[in-house]
Amino acid sequence: MASGVALKSRILGGLWGHAVGDALGVPVEFCSRQERERDPVADLRGFGTHNQPPGTWSDDTSLTLCTIDTLLHSGEDYGALGRSFVRWLNAEVWTAHGSVFDVGIATASAIRRLARGVAPLEAGRYDEDSNGNGSLMRMLPVAIWFAGRPAADTIEAAHRYSALTHRHPRSQVGCAIYCLTVQRLMTGGVPNAAVDMAWRDVNAHYDTASFASELSVYSRLVPVKMFEKLHAQAIRGSGYVVDALEASIWCLLNSRSFEEAVLKAINLGEDTDTTGSITGALAGVHYGLEAIPVVWRAALARSDDLDKLFNAFADRAASAA
Ligand SMILES: [Mg+2]
Repeated sequence: MASGVALKSRILGGLWGHAVGDALGVPVEFCSRQERERDPVADLRGFGTHNQPPGTWSDDTSLTLCTIDTLLHSGEDYGALGRSFVRWLNAEVWTAHGSVFDVGIATASAIRRLARGVAPLEAGRYDEDSNGNGSLMRMLPVAIWFAGRPAADTIEAAHRYSALTHRHPRSQVGCAIYCLTVQRLMTGGVPNAAVDMAWRDVNAHYDTASFASELSVYSRLVPVKMFEKLHAQAIRGSGYVVDALEASIWCLLNSRSFEEAVLKAINLGEDTDTTGSITGALAGVHYGLEAIPVVWRAALARSDDLDKLFNAFADRAASAA
């Protein structure tokens, strides 16, 4: 199964999986677990929470697309990335249908700070209450771009990329664990080994008190064999960065296909588009592009534009790795 997947298929699987997971979750964002138990999501739907047609992706994918576009054309340029985020919030680039219908509070306020000229790496809020999943949801391209380099480079890059909207160490640590997990999956690691190695890398890296203490907030992830066995009632699909990272990894560990993983994430309820997108990315990297239903990809808004951008990024990343 997933062990024979080519690197480019894994990268494209992650990128499409992210967008598909977002679009599956958009119509039911903010719904409760109980509602999803009564009426589980099993396919792309339309309308609902944001009254958008089927296949509409949201801020999670838009900001991911801004990041891909900037990496491709400007490399690791945080000023250019910040300008791209500002243009998106003004609905000038990378919206599904020409409007911004979904944006988190911390992300919106940070992008307004960027627009006012605040330095990109100081734009995100630093307080403990600003630890939503808004930077985690756009971290996939960072994982792909920094793959093949030492773990320390990826960890520090994840911190910097998070800082544009989420500068608290808890968000930064969550992004680092996620990026390292994606990278281990890219090289064909099985999910529980990928998470275990990501944990060992961050644990070895953090020697300052502020980061080491934040790492303990994520300690339910290990041992992975025990985390995997937690009951669904112990997992939440909320907008909190720790819940979101746990939910995405738990869904990957407890599924045997791309569809099972991403639908399981969405049917946790709450912040369904973000849980769906970050789980879809992990599952897409693990199972590869061919495991994502073609009808789901084809039904996405601007699927031709996505195809062009994703292929250009995957070609660049696969040749660098
Ligand atoms: Mg969203």
